[in-house]
Amino acid sequence: MQASPVVSLVVPFYNEGAAVEAFFETIASTLASINTVAFEIVCIDDGSKDDTLIRLLAASRSDPRVKIIELSRNFGKEAALTAGLDAAVGDAVIPMDADLQDPPGLIIKMIEKWRLGADVVLARRIDRHSDSIAKRGTANLFYKIHNRVSHVEIPNNVGDFRLMNRASVDALKLLPERQRFMKGMFAWIGFRTEVLDYTRPARAAGSSKFTGWKLWNFALEGFTSFSSVPLRIWTYIGSFSTLLTLVYLIFIVTRTLIYGIDVPGYASLLVSILFFGSLQLLSVGILGEYIGRIYTESKQRPVYIVRQIYGGSREP
Ligand code: UDP
Ligand code: MG
Repeated sequence: MQASPVVSLVVPFYNEGAAVEAFFETIASTLASINTVAFEIVCIDDGSKDDTLIRLLAASRSDPRVKIIELSRNFGKEAALTAGLDAAVGDAVIPMDADLQDPPGLIIKMIEKWRLGADVVLARRIDRHSDSIAKRGTANLFYKIHNRVSHVEIPNNVGDFRLMNRASVDALKLLPERQRFMKGMFAWIGFRTEVLDYTRPARAAGSSKFTGWKLWNFALEGFTSFSSVPLRIWTYIGSFSTLLTLVYLIFIVTRTLIYGIDVPGYASLLVSILFFGSLQLLSVGILGEYIGRIYTESKQRPVYIVRQIYGGSREP
């Protein structure tokens, strides 16, 4: 018993009451087909307002491998994942979504690759037909821009679903940031990585927790966490417009000297005031994005707060 390695599944749940049973049914049958490793299922209840916790507790009663971490409120998926990674004790850890959009069948292949020597096994979506066209388009745009401006390349169409060995999980835990852009952090740590391709199915139950606005903020988090290009770009825009202004200045002074004062100029004056005014506001806004993040980091608050842990030795 002692010899077989343990793999921890880390699953965040936020208002997934409708998906809990389906999840455990599918997972149980998948895990039953793997007998070379032992499993631990770390479920994080990310402050759900529905009956997710009650259903999770019911599942843990019939399956001793289930461990539940109840957070004190909704901290967001990234924080929930962090809580799960901190609590997982396995020799390898697999974060996956509760809605079965990460096909459990892939777990078998991941473990195979891991046992053959890979440190990290990524699952890459080759077909996102289950996502809306808008979501696919914006996701593509995000990867394109992000990988242009950041020195850490996020592999295209790779989510949080992956296998990480103990060494890479421990490396991840060394990253102290409060604002956790997991995709970027996963990529930042490096390690020997292999890729598996899969087709992403539609959600098993319920609806996506990520609305357009949440995704936009998520993308901002990505840019600001792993790139200072948005800050530096203003040096170049500033230099360029200074140069342009200088040229125009020389032109207008010379013209005035030669042809005398030319009173009209209301339009060009207004346009340049408005243009540079908004350019300055924009750059101040971007500065603000970074300063806001420095502010949150400097408070050094914990990433998540645990209300209670159920399962394992702490069963009440
Ligand atoms: N999730 C979470 N906290 C949140 C939002 C989502 O723990 O604040 C979980 C959710 O329960 C699910 C996973 O993160 O297990 C992915 O969420 P979702 O399926 O809504 O995202 P999508 O697949 O649409 O990207
Ligand atoms: Mg989903």
